[in-house]
Amino acid sequence: MLRFQSYDIVFQEVPNEVTLAINLANCPNGCKGCHSPHLQQDTGEWLTESAIDTLLAEYGEAITCICFMGGDADPHEVDRLARYVRAMSGSKLKTAWYSGKSRFPDSCALSSFDYLKLGPYVEQLGGLQSPTTNQRFYRVDNEQMTDCTWVFHK
Ligand code: SF4
Repeated sequence: MLRFQSYDIVFQEVPNEVTLAINLANCPNGCKGCHSPHLQQDTGEWLTESAIDTLLAEYGEAITCICFMGGDADPHEVDRLARYVRAMSGSKLKTAWYSGKSRFPDSCALSSFDYLKLGPYVEQLGGLQSPTTNQRFYRVDNEQMTDCTWVFHK
């Protein structure tokens, strides 16, 4: 299971979407220069279906997308909850995943997501907004990933 430490409505993490970003705990990636070291702790509330229901009841009408920030300690659970969001919103809400892994896990389904960010944070290369970044941002259509990282560099 996954815990989350906080959430926020954000506008830049997923271009052209109003996104409820859920900050997941217990990050296993250990990036040097981690920008959110508190997310390496396994603390916070359990991200259950009930917790998602509560968030959807409060913010579902105000957002167009839910983004799971992290969750690499239990990728299968991220995949499962993304499908839950799809089902509960009648596919009205897009689903996104910001993973610190370089590859999409074989155990997960691309069809669960509309957007993906892959890649660890490498301090000297910078995040998605940096022109030298190693991280990639993808749009997923029909289980095909299209690299759209360029939209962060316009
Ligand atoms: S993936 Fe993000 S939260 Fe995890 S260690 Fe790297 S920078 Fe920190």
